[in-house]
Amino acid sequence: MAKSFQMLIDGDWVDGAGSERLDSYNPFDQSVWATIPQATEDDVARAITAAHTAFRGVWRKTSGRDRASMMLRLADLVEENADALAQADSTDNGKVIRETGAQMRFAARNYRHFAGYADKLTGETIPLDNLDMFDFTLVEPLGVAILITAWNSPLPLLANKLAPALAAGNTVVIKPSEHASASTLEFGRLIEQAGFPPGVVNIVTGDGRIGPALTTHPKVRKISFTGGLSTATKIIQSAAARVIPVTTELGGKSPNIIFEDADIEAAVTGAVAGVFGASGQTCIAGSRLLVQRQIYDEVCRRIVEKVEAIRLGNPLDTETEMGPVANSQQFDKILGMIRDAEADGATIATGGRAGDGPGLEQGYFVRPTVLVDVSPDLAIAREEVFGPVLCVIPFDTEEEALEIANDSDYGLASGIWTNDLRRAHRMARDIEAGVVWVNTYRASYVGAPFGGTKLSGHGRERSWHALLEYTQPKNVMIDLSGAARDPFSMKL
Ligand code: NAD
Repeated sequence: MAKSFQMLIDGDWVDGAGSERLDSYNPFDQSVWATIPQATEDDVARAITAAHTAFRGVWRKTSGRDRASMMLRLADLVEENADALAQADSTDNGKVIRETGAQMRFAARNYRHFAGYADKLTGETIPLDNLDMFDFTLVEPLGVAILITAWNSPLPLLANKLAPALAAGNTVVIKPSEHASASTLEFGRLIEQAGFPPGVVNIVTGDGRIGPALTTHPKVRKISFTGGLSTATKIIQSAAARVIPVTTELGGKSPNIIFEDADIEAAVTGAVAGVFGASGQTCIAGSRLLVQRQIYDEVCRRIVEKVEAIRLGNPLDTETEMGPVANSQQFDKILGMIRDAEADGATIATGGRAGDGPGLEQGYFVRPTVLVDVSPDLAIAREEVFGPVLCVIPFDTEEEALEIANDSDYGLASGIWTNDLRRAHRMARDIEAGVVWVNTYRASYVGAPFGGTKLSGHGRERSWHALLEYTQPKNVMIDLSGAARDPFSMKL
């Protein structure tokens, strides 16, 4: 029997004004395990109005200390309920439970981290040339923020947005992906238990049809979006008409670069973690592996060895290392891109087909795939796959590695494996990416800024930089002199 979820609007759990519901599929066995409401325009308007009323009313009157207390309680609740939340995500999107479990601890850490800021958002006093004037700033929230997330990591992606938004005093309407809404709706129960007043956090569900109602509403003052480029473009266009700031966290084709002086075992393990962790369904996937020619054959051999040992299976089993990909569209897209790459001349060293074998029959499994001797010009080396597909590209010199790495429309993450300190610094400085890992990959900390450049997006999440996305300074200038001024001259 499929679980039936409701939406959270103005403190009430509701089915919504329409009768349409969407099925949520378990990608491990293709069963419909849950259903969610397809919100209507009226539902969205009600959620935004509730958020606006709360912003103007109860939330504005809530001190930073009290916001922090609720956020700390929320962090505790996320940790206490981590197993159930992780199960919901693993059932919805096929990510292995050892990853989703760690993701819940990351989400809890995020709320705790930003709770620390809620009562410390101080402005500044500004010494003016004119000593008879007093000037200071207030750090203010923006208002109602729309938080739209992708299906691959619903709750950590949400925490990146919700934690700074709430710490800064904004109210929100959340829209998770239609492919994986369950954990966000279960998280809504924790929002209630943590004591957030009705209307501060609202959750509506449904597919992209409700996008315009969310992004064009006149009471919205901020949009934060994680997802694909084509959706981002539509959102930015609708936000432009109302001059609403948009933070975009989009895709990538991240280079992971191994130099001949690197610790090869660590680098090869990092390369596997970079693109086969989470079945490659991460925006930061290190899907382009650049390897210096002297060690190219050895690295390819060791990677293939490790990849062929990866355990595919039920994502809820703690022994499983790679689950299915999230849905049938992803499955078809990934296999199609591998077929095209082969036709373009790439060589499949391992994988390249659907996963088969006992227990995998019903799932959307794709064998972890390594393509070798890939020319950097091929589509497979330039376009995001969002699946377990690694392109290995040889290079000769540091300059050539940098050129290949930067010759991309994207600029999200990057990895550099070297024991040469000077080279590490040179590469970190010159690479066009929002995140650079040296001798590690796919490591996260809530206090370190995260985001991309070029088509990977605009703005930053995590760290104090994220607070800038949800606040604005107001300048207050007071004339203490009491003197009348010359009305026709600028006052200095
Ligand atoms: P998507 O763009 O299809 O959907 C993302 C969200 O946008 C979903 O909630 C969807 O329902 C919603 N949406 C769809 N149409 C909309 C519209 N017109 N208006 C408003 N909202 C709309 O992306 P996806 O397939 O869910 O996610 C995969 C993409 O997300 C990949 O490109 C991946 O790299 C990227 N991603 C980026 C990050 C990051 O932090 N940089 C993290 C995870 C995923």
